[in-house]
Amino acid sequence: MKCIKCQDDLKCKLSIFTEEEDRPIEISYQWWFCENCGAKYYGILEDSHVNMFDDRLLHKGYLIQEKKWQESLREGLKCPDPRNISCTCEFHREAPPAGFYGDSAWYSYE
Ligand SMILES: [Zn+2]
Ligand SMILES: [Zn+2]
Repeated sequence: MKCIKCQDDLKCKLSIFTEEEDRPIEISYQWWFCENCGAKYYGILEDSHVNMFDDRLLHKGYLIQEKKWQESLREGLKCPDPRNISCTCEFHREAPPAGFYGDSAWYSYE
């Protein structure tokens, strides 16, 4: 992903895998950042792999205020097992996390 402010490549700090209870879909909540200009982003990656007619990944990104990003990242980092959709930590139990959106930065199918 590219930074919408300076076009530099973004880095992903954390990605937490979750599963919807009522839909056959995996959703990853991600914290992205730009090393160059310091911009912060949330990413939401939706993988509807179970639906074989639509196995694309939908990737949404939002530009986020530094403070909000840091606070939610602190919560996310408490998860002991981010890649485990069956994890029972607070973040996983409460997914989708409240307020995990902002100004749209990207919206793409991969
Ligand atoms: Zn940037
Ligand atoms: Zn967890």
